[in-house]
Amino acid sequence: MAKTCQNLNMTALPAATLAHVTGTHSDQPCVLLKLGEIVLKGGNRQHFEKLLQNNIRMAIAELGCGVRLWQRDGVIILTPETSDPGADAASKAALAADQIAERMLTVMGVVRVCRAQRVAKDPDAAIEAAAGMAAGRSGSFAVRAKRRDKRFPLSSADLAIAAGSAIQRRYGNPVDLRNPDFTIHLEVDQSEVFLYTDGQAGQGGLPVGMSGRGLVLMSGGIDSPVAGYRMMRRGLYCTFLHFSGLPLTGPESIYKAYGLVRQLDRYQRGSRLFVIAFGRAQQRLASSGSGRLQVMAQRRLMLKAAEALAARVRATALVTGDSLGQVASQTLANITALDEAVKLPILRPLIGLDKTEIMAEARRISTLALSELPDQDCCSLLLPRQVETRAKVADLHKIEARLDIDQLAGELAAAAAEYRPG
Ligand code: ATP
Ligand code: MG
Repeated sequence: MAKTCQNLNMTALPAATLAHVTGTHSDQPCVLLKLGEIVLKGGNRQHFEKLLQNNIRMAIAELGCGVRLWQRDGVIILTPETSDPGADAASKAALAADQIAERMLTVMGVVRVCRAQRVAKDPDAAIEAAAGMAAGRSGSFAVRAKRRDKRFPLSSADLAIAAGSAIQRRYGNPVDLRNPDFTIHLEVDQSEVFLYTDGQAGQGGLPVGMSGRGLVLMSGGIDSPVAGYRMMRRGLYCTFLHFSGLPLTGPESIYKAYGLVRQLDRYQRGSRLFVIAFGRAQQRLASSGSGRLQVMAQRRLMLKAAEALAARVRATALVTGDSLGQVASQTLANITALDEAVKLPILRPLIGLDKTEIMAEARRISTLALSELPDQDCCSLLLPRQVETRAKVADLHKIEARLDIDQLAGELAAAAAEYRPG
């Protein structure tokens, strides 16, 4: 693999690059990304595109291969660069393109990831490459052609027919323009022809960082990782905070939170996890007579400590995995009492989801198995026999006044340990 030589190129790729990789004017593997909502943005669009390009480059950096990035309307094209002119340069470039495509499946803001080929602007080369793309594929197919440069010697329809006939002759697949099993797209551009297949669905959403920073309250459970994922997909760069029951429990929940953040780090990179030992503070709440309000008092203290930490990490929102009515602390009355504890907005992306829907998403983003490992969550400590489902803020204030709660929250935040699970 070539050494890293990231190169952000915003203009058409020079024709010389084509010959450079393969030594001939044969095809050059690349990756075509279809962008989502970002293309609808008005004045700030260029800024958001730059952010997305940076996120893409960060995702590729770990692969150690150079890449050219070319932004076009609603599309980004990535071409691996190999500095190695050896006989296997073409297969190395194809492998690099496969690896890049795989990485792009985790970049927020990308709607589809298509493995593509870039070929010389010549009808024979385009037709030959289209046939090559169909190799090994079964079922019916369609070819769709588009010309950005109308000087190309074949019309779009003629190019599609010629490529389709070549595929039929060579592999015998039937044409089905209405409901094909696979489609090959041909795009004649200013200085080259691009070919690509349907590709795979990307994450969609908005580029991470576009919506600012949030602090995710991350238990070892199923919901909070999904909540973090959902907010990343809406452009929030997430930092994570876990409360462990230490010293009243073991460290298992910390290992889980660490593993979960590591999984989520695939979508944003550079994630930080803060851990607060919460057991003693829970004991203090219990001994101040919190009774049926113990769970709510704990949750409010968590939020207050999170707010203090948020100021330090420059997060302007808190994120939780609350889902309306799922557990006693998530009734409407209790959620209202939780909101009252802090000034920062609390984002709850799972508020209207059923547990089965949350679990399906957790499975899809590969956090479910880790979340289901046994641990002792701090919230299960010191549980009252009955949990209050309609907490009154005035009663919670009385408990908090006995403890100088804001100072306690500040001390907890100051003592948070920091990890870098990415
Ligand atoms: P989860 O499956 O994410 O643990 P849950 O269904 O168990 O959620 P609760 O225990 O009431 O629900 O927690 C609701 C939310 O409060 C969690 O989604 C999370 O955002 C936050 N939270 C709960 N426990 C912790 C913890 N130990 N550390 C950090 N945040 C927590
Ligand atoms: Mg929980």
